[in-house]
Amino acid sequence: MSVVKSIKLVLLGEAAVGKSSLVLRFVSNEFQENKEPTIGAAFLTQRCSVNQTTVKFEIWDTAGQERFASLAPMYYRNAQAALVVYDLTKPGSFIKARHWIKELHEQANSADMVIFLVGNKLDLVEEDEEQRKISREDGEALAKEEGCFFMETSAKNSINVNDVFTKIAEEFLKKT
Ligand code: GDP
Repeated sequence: MSVVKSIKLVLLGEAAVGKSSLVLRFVSNEFQENKEPTIGAAFLTQRCSVNQTTVKFEIWDTAGQERFASLAPMYYRNAQAALVVYDLTKPGSFIKARHWIKELHEQANSADMVIFLVGNKLDLVEEDEEQRKISREDGEALAKEEGCFFMETSAKNSINVNDVFTKIAEEFLKKT
């Protein structure tokens, strides 16, 4: 019989960077072009196998709107992992991601937390390099500075999405 370990994961990031879309891709391998915004927070689960262990993700997808920002601590305080997302075509979203990571270091138990920085909408950048507003190097540098893991993803074209969640599961198992 295989072991099941639960991990609480919170998604943080500016509105419309693709948080819900990354979760939808991971949970049901779907993509919706015009997703309704998340109000408050949404809860979903998905399992992922790493070696002999099943990791059950309990995912809290928070709303990016500023008016919900004060609720975020409720979700990240008891989380073992955080996915901080920005949009590769939106400079403001990268600044916001930096703020979220700093907040996690200040307010959450970040030493025990797997923090993953994700630059999403890679498909737009691959289609037209002019669209890219944050270089891969800048993303990597921020992640290194803050002790986070880093990947660029596309929820739309399913690039690196499963890899992000698998890596989180692996790192979580290393800590437990
Ligand atoms: P959230 O507010 O951060 O949860 O963002 P959503 O998941 O609601 O996505 C916002 C918009 O961006 C929606 O119209 C999505 O279809 C679109 N979107 C999300 N991920 C991607 C992606 O990887 N590529 C592209 N081109 N669009 C995306």
